[in-house]
Amino acid sequence: LSHIKVEILLIVNSESERFYRSIILHFKDLGLDPRLLKKLTHLGFERATEIQRTAVPVAIMGKDVLASSKTGSGKTLAFLLPAMQRMYRGKPFTRRDQRVLILTPTRELAKQVFAQLRTLNAGTPYDGALIVGGENFNDQVKEFRKDPMFVVATPGRFADHLEHRSTSLDGLEMLILDEADRMLDLGFAPQLRRIHELANHRRRQTLMFSATMDNEDVIEMASEMLNAPKRLSIGSSN
Ligand code: ADP
Ligand code: MG
Repeated sequence: LSHIKVEILLIVNSESERFYRSIILHFKDLGLDPRLLKKLTHLGFERATEIQRTAVPVAIMGKDVLASSKTGSGKTLAFLLPAMQRMYRGKPFTRRDQRVLILTPTRELAKQVFAQLRTLNAGTPYDGALIVGGENFNDQVKEFRKDPMFVVATPGRFADHLEHRSTSLDGLEMLILDEADRMLDLGFAPQLRRIHELANHRRRQTLMFSATMDNEDVIEMASEMLNAPKRLSIGSSN
């Protein structure tokens, strides 16, 4: 009998979740800071995509998220908005270390995420640095000395800087893994584990995004790095 009860509860939950998803369309309904809403309006963004309207409310509550949705569905804003919100709503900072680290598999993707970040953090004290391979290492060391709040990086180069002690993860509040499936396919598991280990604080929130959940390596890495994550899978049956 108890097992029947559990099933009924699950049905009710997924129904209400579907309803919830269907009614929230506009960014203004997601609980975002008015300063962010203003920026979104300026950028011409009004309606949130499905991944945005499901991931943003969960992430701004401080929960870990494991989310998948297809390419082009708006995952970048789904993690940048909660990250910006955490800066706006967080305690005034005492540490000078970076507070948000966003990892992407390739330089090109890192550059795209960084460009999107700049549209949101312009005019705020929450500045960012782009740290990717193929660029001058010492110039990047200088970038770290400016104490950026946000770092957008590829895992290989970022891990090199950790070994070189150009930066530390002591104050990290948010770790975001963009295209986690591709990072793992490219062999970055050791670097991700090292970063996780050095930023393993109780306060840390982790958001993991992937094009698919059909990847054992993604599920395994999520179980290592995420704390009771909310699992969101858009456009698939799981
Ligand atoms: P993904 O990471 O899921 O592949 P992106 O975050 O790169 O997708 O977004 C794809 C494109 O959609 C980008 O050009 C982005 O500016 C645009 N976009 C994202 N969210 C919205 C939105 N809510 N309304 C309109 N365009 C959006
Ligand atoms: Mg993307």
